[in-house]
Amino acid sequence: MKTRLRCLIISLLTLGLMLSVTPVAFAGSDAPAAGRKLVALTFDDGPGEYADDILDTLQRHNAKGTFFLLGHKVRTNPDQVRRMAAEGHQIGNHTESHPHLTECSDAAIQQEVKETAQAITKVTGLTGTGDTGFYLRPPFGSYSDRVAAAAHVPVIWCTVDTGDWKYRSARHLVHYFGEQIQDGDIVILHETVESTVRGLDALLTKLEERDFQMVTVEELLKQRGITPKPGEILFGAREESCVRQFPNTGVLGGATLLRRLLVLGFPPAKVQ
Ligand SMILES: [Zn+2]
Repeated sequence: MKTRLRCLIISLLTLGLMLSVTPVAFAGSDAPAAGRKLVALTFDDGPGEYADDILDTLQRHNAKGTFFLLGHKVRTNPDQVRRMAAEGHQIGNHTESHPHLTECSDAAIQQEVKETAQAITKVTGLTGTGDTGFYLRPPFGSYSDRVAAAAHVPVIWCTVDTGDWKYRSARHLVHYFGEQIQDGDIVILHETVESTVRGLDALLTKLEERDFQMVTVEELLKQRGITPKPGEILFGAREESCVRQFPNTGVLGGATLLRRLLVLGFPPAKVQ
């Protein structure tokens, strides 16, 4: 009896010790470890000639990204889109023809979004995130409450705009943005910019050194308890949580301006 009691006590102590150990991220595990800093790197304007290079680099780092794709390129590069999906990256909508959506009619916005979504679905069988459809990254940062309402999907802008298409410097990307990125950021990069492809490996290494885990936009928002709804514009999931915008509320005008000022760019640049 005494032996059984001793065994029970030892078992309970062992169990307690196991439970008190902080959870760690295992290599190959996609679920972020508790307390880990998260960032969502996004790649616009593909799929194109650098897609496989980017996918190889992400794979080496066990990192996930989000690719906002153009409909006409999805139709011409279906294998790369399938690879993105197969390797656990998120696929988003960057419209069919890359227009300034604020200058489009509601019907034209819907057509741009629909054509691209259909192209992605045809190639991958995917239909987007939950029942909200594919997230939309508006070209040129051309968005408004009207655009978001007409598109009727979550609109994803960013908290960090690297302006990589303008600076075209792998060094700037790694040394400046590698340090500036914060927990909860959504970062705009371009799949089509050669310096980004060249700098990505070092950027990921730097972010790993800073204890970041690279996740999809969907995963970042989910981990931070944010469920995007159609017609919402989202910037990121930084702790200050003033990065979320609700359409058509009116009262948030000042806060919206503040959020826009929080978007990090160096120096502020118009984006592609
Ligand atoms: Zn673009």
